[in-house]
Amino acid sequence: MEIIENLCDITIFGGHGDLAFRKLMPALYHLSNNGYLDEQSRIITAARVPMSNEEHCDLVKSKLQEFLSDTAFDEEKFDRFKKQLHIVTINFMDNESYSGLEALLSTHPDRDRINYFSTAPDFFGMICKSLSDWKLITAQSRVVLEKPIGRDLDSSRVINMEVLKYFNESQIYRIDHYLGKDTVQNIMALRFSNRFFMPLWDANNIDHIQITVAESVGVEGRWGYYDDYGAMRDMVQNHLMQLLCLVAMEPPCSLDADSVRDEKVKVLRSLRPMSASDIEFKTVRAQYAAGSSEGEAVPGYLEGDGVEESTTETFAALRVDIDNWRWKGVPFYLRSGKRMQKRNSEIVIQFKEIPHSIFVNKGKCISQNKLVISLQPKESIQLQLMNKIPGLSEQMRLQQVELELNTPLNMSHKPDAYERLLLDVIRANPTLFMRLDEVEAAWKWADVILDGWSEEIVPMKSYSAGTDGPSAAIQLIARDGRSWHDE
Ligand code: NAD
Repeated sequence: MEIIENLCDITIFGGHGDLAFRKLMPALYHLSNNGYLDEQSRIITAARVPMSNEEHCDLVKSKLQEFLSDTAFDEEKFDRFKKQLHIVTINFMDNESYSGLEALLSTHPDRDRINYFSTAPDFFGMICKSLSDWKLITAQSRVVLEKPIGRDLDSSRVINMEVLKYFNESQIYRIDHYLGKDTVQNIMALRFSNRFFMPLWDANNIDHIQITVAESVGVEGRWGYYDDYGAMRDMVQNHLMQLLCLVAMEPPCSLDADSVRDEKVKVLRSLRPMSASDIEFKTVRAQYAAGSSEGEAVPGYLEGDGVEESTTETFAALRVDIDNWRWKGVPFYLRSGKRMQKRNSEIVIQFKEIPHSIFVNKGKCISQNKLVISLQPKESIQLQLMNKIPGLSEQMRLQQVELELNTPLNMSHKPDAYERLLLDVIRANPTLFMRLDEVEAAWKWADVILDGWSEEIVPMKSYSAGTDGPSAAIQLIARDGRSWHDE
């Protein structure tokens, strides 16, 4: 095993929140146990409610037991890990409350300092200001920003500019946890290390591309938060756009962060802006109504306590066109929704039909080749090919077979996306994080659609919880003579 020692102080703001307990602490526990984090590194939780270090360690332990798999939690390992845990009491609204953090950090003034803002973005500016007032930002400081960074271009600019008053762009790590998934990174490996795909990856050979991120859960207790965003802002503008960039980008000149991000931003700038008639015919927005999920009746989006009238979409589907040489005439169909039939995230690259078939039924039995990259619930890559059915039948008969491209995993522990991303921040490698110009280009494109929706250019549709979304999404792709992969 490659062991890299990384010495740093990591401060988690909002450190007793859901994300910190469910994702960040488990990731740090694994990084520390697997030798990716120097044991002298400190993990400092900034929490609003005062607590002793011992109480904090007990709380972290119980949360790790809850969120790690049975086999991953180990008393002995935790006893080592807990020596790295520290807690300070901070109320973001109270500048004076940073004295404890200052006292702790100043014992190692030259260490790399990672500030993880696991809080609502409204607090980003004020946390930065307090860190600056207390002189806690050094050249070795980095800051990790959780989504959502704004709800449109203007509000994202306000948040980014506040942080940029105190940190340089090179110190800012805007996280998109989809990019931490191994299979997502494998898109680059697949495309840029195999000769095989190189000549096929363009409009001459690819018919269209589908990107689906479907969740079976609803908004649960987060209605208030979700209703300010909706599917377009919460999923499409960031996660689906990032996946689209990785599939569509040109080969970068190297793997360094700016080369990769330069290529991604070119894709975002090549997205065809939508006219009013494009919004009408190429976008679908919908809300889920009551239905059933995993055999149980579930309420609709507009039902339940604390719910108000709302025009926020829980489902979005779009046909996206990229205006450049490689993708001329190749549609990208995107869709994302809550309370869908099943949790399923995948990218499907559908190749064109063969030019002429010599087989029975004039080729009707030949399915177009597909490369299916599954991200959730299972991570896998599958190439769908045609193959002869073995046997002595007079007419040669074909069947579709799946070539699995998965690497056998010889690891006892498969790292979570947050583990990969936290390690990259520790190593100061921003390749998998979004640069300011990427965020802005994605918002610029999405804002046009969101404005069109707010002007009711396209009506809000409805779908029953536990289904594949509204029929309008099926029509969106059927209009072009195609269908969704799972139909
Ligand atoms: P959360 O509400 O559970 O946690 C936020 C934490 O901030 C809480 O512990 C709260 O006590 C603390 N806090 C709030 N006001 C404070 C103040 N004035 N002073 C000090 N502390 C204060 O939220 P979360 O789910 O952990 O999400 C954190 C951020 O990460 C949000 O921006 C969210 O959108 C984003 N995010 C969360 C998830 C997730 O799975 N939970 C996933 C992706 C992104």
